[in-house]
Amino acid sequence: MLEPLKNFRIVVVAGLPGVGKSTVLSRTSELLRAEGYLPEVINYGDFMFEFAKRKGVKSRDDLRKLPLNEQKKLQASVAKEIRNYVINKARGDVATFIAFIDTHVLIKTSSGLWPGLPEYVIKELVPDSIVIVEASPEEIVSRQLRDKTRYRADYADTALVKELMDLMRVFAISAATLVGASVNFVVNREGKVDEAAHSLAEIIRRL
Ligand code: ATP
Ligand code: AMP
Ligand code: MG
Repeated sequence: MLEPLKNFRIVVVAGLPGVGKSTVLSRTSELLRAEGYLPEVINYGDFMFEFAKRKGVKSRDDLRKLPLNEQKKLQASVAKEIRNYVINKARGDVATFIAFIDTHVLIKTSSGLWPGLPEYVIKELVPDSIVIVEASPEEIVSRQLRDKTRYRADYADTALVKELMDLMRVFAISAATLVGASVNFVVNREGKVDEAAHSLAEIIRRL
């Protein structure tokens, strides 16, 4: 028997720190809301930071400095929290609920590059799509350094950003393979947040 059409979509949005995920998602949500969707941005880092504050972590950019085992424990609990949150939110709504999960497929930690979507995370989130937000390495580094509200200096090197962008695609595809999610790329050009938001909104309409 065919399953009834589900009234929600789960979309993981990832990209290097400072590329503009949170900015683009805010604008995309406005666009989709105006069309009758119920979009909500769920920031993985917010959930991680809430848990970590209880252990004395002072800034969200210090999370990636914690011992890897601690990051792993936080990461795994947050995946379950977000799954429960989305299931409760989607229940009973007539309009389509769009859960944007603002997160990372790749995190640079002191113990090496670490997947943001290992099997125990991606199998909790089960996204329909994984969207990678991209920009030129020069644009990314310039945004990282300009935005004084955050500390992203550990990523602010053009050669490093270039290398991580290639690896990010590999990490995204690896995660997508585990749950049959599609993979999409959105370019967030300098001064063109609206353009990026429109192309992300179009991806959502087609899911
Ligand atoms: P993080 O992973 O660290 O949370 P992020 O990908 O969510 O980073 P944002 O906080 O959305 O990044 O954006 C970083 C900075 O870049 C902000 O100051 C934002 O205003 C700026 N920015 C985002 N998109 C653009 C753009 N298209 N043109 C110019 N500036 C931009
Ligand atoms: P953000 O504001 O998106 O940069 O998130 C803040 C921090 O949360 C990141 O630098 C990571 O340390 C952590 N974080 C976010 N998403 C994940 C994830 N999927 N796995 C592990 N850590 C994450
Ligand atoms: Mg952000």
